[in-house]
Amino acid sequence: MSYVQRVVSNLQDKYAYEPIFLQAVQEVLQSLQPVLDKNPQYERYKILERIVEPERTISFRVQWIDDKGQIQVNKGFRVQYNSAIGPYKGGLRFHPSVNQGILKFLGFEQIFKNSLTGLAIGGGKGGADFDPKGKSETEVMRFCQAFMSELYRHIGATIDVPAGDIGVGGREVGYLFGQYKRLTQSYEGVLTGKNLLFGGSLARTEATGYGAVYFAQSMLEGKGQSLEGKKCAVSGAGNVAIYCCEKLYQVGATPLTVSDSRGMIYDPEGINMDVLKQIKEVERESLTRYVELVSSAVYTPVNEYPDGRNAVWSVPCYAAFPCATQNELNLEDARVLLANGCQCVAEGANMPSTLDAVHAFLKAGICYGPAKAANAGGVATSQLEMAQNASMQSWSFEAVDNKLHEIMRNIYMSAAETAKEFGEPGNLVMGANIAGFRKVANAMVAQGV
Ligand code: NDP
Repeated sequence: MSYVQRVVSNLQDKYAYEPIFLQAVQEVLQSLQPVLDKNPQYERYKILERIVEPERTISFRVQWIDDKGQIQVNKGFRVQYNSAIGPYKGGLRFHPSVNQGILKFLGFEQIFKNSLTGLAIGGGKGGADFDPKGKSETEVMRFCQAFMSELYRHIGATIDVPAGDIGVGGREVGYLFGQYKRLTQSYEGVLTGKNLLFGGSLARTEATGYGAVYFAQSMLEGKGQSLEGKKCAVSGAGNVAIYCCEKLYQVGATPLTVSDSRGMIYDPEGINMDVLKQIKEVERESLTRYVELVSSAVYTPVNEYPDGRNAVWSVPCYAAFPCATQNELNLEDARVLLANGCQCVAEGANMPSTLDAVHAFLKAGICYGPAKAANAGGVATSQLEMAQNASMQSWSFEAVDNKLHEIMRNIYMSAAETAKEFGEPGNLVMGANIAGFRKVANAMVAQGV
């Protein structure tokens, strides 16, 4: 049995109850064999056994009072995964599905993603099984305050710097920051994705979605192609999806779809950005509102999706941008996309494609940008926010956006060159995993046990 197989099999026995974490580990470890063969010291230093185990996992009770005066109890977590190359960095997710396995999958991915950015940031992730949907403004505020009342003792500007993720946007980051400041009397860049009024960075809101499009452009340029004039399918209707659509228009492409947990919109005229932003950023409403406001659009609820599939991927497109959540694009979806001529998939969400869907894209030889490379623009810009906070400066939108663009190009180059170095040109899964891993592994070796 190979080193990788032994580690994976051990984890399967130990963490059988965390299938999503095992999926993420398998995806990474399977592609590391060539670098492990060339560097036997990694096995000697037990790098795989160490890198799959978080340095620290904090779990805590979050108790708060709702608008009816009732006591509510949620479960909160912070997984401090790996700090070999910098302070822990990664978002907070508030969603009823959150558990330790999901946060371990996200934190594990974050190690390699953060390393790939070329910046000095370690990997972490956190969140709670709190559902912000249907909660009043004051309930969201009280929950955020209760959550931070425990988390504050474990984080800090040079220790662990959380940001947003599903269910945590600028509003939640503001409440979390306010509570941190109250409890610690310290005004520091302990969170990113902050409001511009108190240390936020211009272009952070846009960064993940814009970055996914920049990454797609880099992949296509490598083949002498471009997004200009092309039709695109986007899933999700949150932070990442909205700014992915916005950037697609800016580069001359047309996003035809968006989706939320209840259904999807197909708009043959192209998604109307003013309407989308109004519904999702201002009203925080369902996409059913979109068809009330835009006559060209068609709404399909989730219960009318083809059996076991995501209807977004049935819309013929040149490029697909999954920007909602994990495992939202399976093998059958991949087959339909390929049959309809899709040439490019750039992942805005974390692990949106199942392992067999990824293999189908690689086998077809289309441009496939895995999440840890294609969506790294968010965390990279978070690090730019940390740099601005530390130097008490704020940079212009253009300056941050230019740096983001350059970082995304560098990530593509690094993944593409590494894939070539290990004999599989074009396999950006392998390239991104090895490039991200190598830096962290070498730092771990150098820092001793
Ligand atoms: P948001 O909460 O802003 O939006 C999430 C969107 O996805 C919403 O439209 C939501 O619909 C939809 N969604 C969530 N769960 C499901 C589901 N189970 N089925 C269908 N749709 C679903 O989150 P973000 O846009 O920030 O995050 C989206 C993805 O991008 C996540 O995978 C996240 O980890 C990843 N990511 C985010 C980064 C960031 O900077 N924000 C950085 C890197 C990655 P509804 O509102 O109905 O729940």
